[in-house]
Amino acid sequence: MVAIKISMGAAEKVWYCPTCEEVTKEPVALYQCNECGTTFSRENSADGKSQMCPDCNKVASELIAHGCPDCEEGDECEEVMAVEADGEWIIIKDMVLVQ
Ligand SMILES: [Zn+2]
Ligand SMILES: [Zn+2]
Repeated sequence: MVAIKISMGAAEKVWYCPTCEEVTKEPVALYQCNECGTTFSRENSADGKSQMCPDCNKVASELIAHGCPDCEEGDECEEVMAVEADGEWIIIKDMVLVQ
């Protein structure tokens, strides 16, 4: 068993995506089209800055506030404390903030 010594001062509040298991510092709001069911972020909307569906150009409703910018799967990311080491995020499980 490897013990990792973590300085708590280095821990940051980040967002963990349960779908692709990526950690992001900046979650995005995701929208779901009521017409066709497409899930998208503002960046991928019809005009790149709104909540207009990129497929049918209708106004979509907000699905989740803290979505993953990597997979945009529509799962709410979990707020966790993590430290970055060698380019990898180590999530501090005991400090998971339950929402
Ligand atoms: Zn993801
Ligand atoms: Zn649509």
